[in-house]
Amino acid sequence: MIKTRFTELFGIKHPIVQGGMQWVGRAELASAVSNAGGLGILTGLTQPTPDDLRKEIVRCRGMTDQPFGVNLTILPTLVPRPYGEYIDAIVESGVKIVETAGNNPKPFLPKLKDAGIKVIHKCTSVRHGVSAEKAGVDAISMDGFECAGHPGEDDVPNLVLLPAAANVIKIPMLASGGFGDARGLVAALALGCEGINMGTRFMATKEAPIHDKVKQALVDGDERATSLIFRTMRNTSRVYANSVARKAIEMEHEGKTIQEIGPLVAGARGKVVYETGDLEHGIWSAGTVMGLIRDVPSCKELIERIVSEAETMIRDKLAKSIAA
Ligand code: NAD
Repeated sequence: MIKTRFTELFGIKHPIVQGGMQWVGRAELASAVSNAGGLGILTGLTQPTPDDLRKEIVRCRGMTDQPFGVNLTILPTLVPRPYGEYIDAIVESGVKIVETAGNNPKPFLPKLKDAGIKVIHKCTSVRHGVSAEKAGVDAISMDGFECAGHPGEDDVPNLVLLPAAANVIKIPMLASGGFGDARGLVAALALGCEGINMGTRFMATKEAPIHDKVKQALVDGDERATSLIFRTMRNTSRVYANSVARKAIEMEHEGKTIQEIGPLVAGARGKVVYETGDLEHGIWSAGTVMGLIRDVPSCKELIERIVSEAETMIRDKLAKSIAA
């Protein structure tokens, strides 16, 4: 067992958290991760309405008696979303862990803290981590440039981002972006973190509620199989490198607006990719960790493999490399 301040604070067995993922973070995956001793996370905005989120929380509770959380991502959307009502749904459902992302969590904290909810704030820069800590969150999930989805605009990979953050952030920190195996977990601990957050790696698991062809694409893809879209709009997103991503980048460089590009990049089209396995139907998030994904295990097999290999690596390799 690897025990850290994060596992203690959040009441979980293993220091492995499943990142909130649009369309993927549903009860099937979150409950499987939590049942395996990690922390599963439902993605709030994947549910079309706050009432649907309430139902999904009940569904997840029916599938696990272990702690799980809900992600709320606040980034530009094509159609405005009622974030306050999603927060109400989370609070009223009695969920005790929330992952905020995409924007300053401060406006939401009083309501969440009053309800006794522990907040993990995911961010992509040291300065945002510092201000979230000051605002009163319980943990930071620091997301490096390697990550799927929104890596921010500073382009700092985790080898520097994590220790730079650990130099100034005192609350427990998760390492996010590029993590998928035991080597990553051991590195994260060495870089000053107390656990890892994995998104793309959990997409390639038996329980992830997405088409097998998407899982196979993650196994087949290497570390170069991603594209960065929305760079010109300062809303960068790392997605699977397909023809839709190439077209979106082309349109950006032609100076097209988000309203013009919108129909191509809409999340609703990405949803069809996960449902049908048609990899070219829309944009879908994937991280550079694809270069490390070689199989589609169950969440339990994956988590247990990572933890046991990490223990062996620390005990039998790293400790023994110190000269007497
Ligand atoms: P959507 O269909 O509303 O928008 C599609 C994409 O266009 C999103 O990436 C969105 O950020 C971007 N976008 C929309 N309006 C924009 C604007 N005015 N300027 C610049 N970019 C704009 O969104 P969705 O795919 O249904 O996703 C819902 C939410 O979840 C969004 O906030 C999205 O950013 C977020 N998301 C996050 C991740 C992640 O990895 N963190 C991955 C997928 C989606």
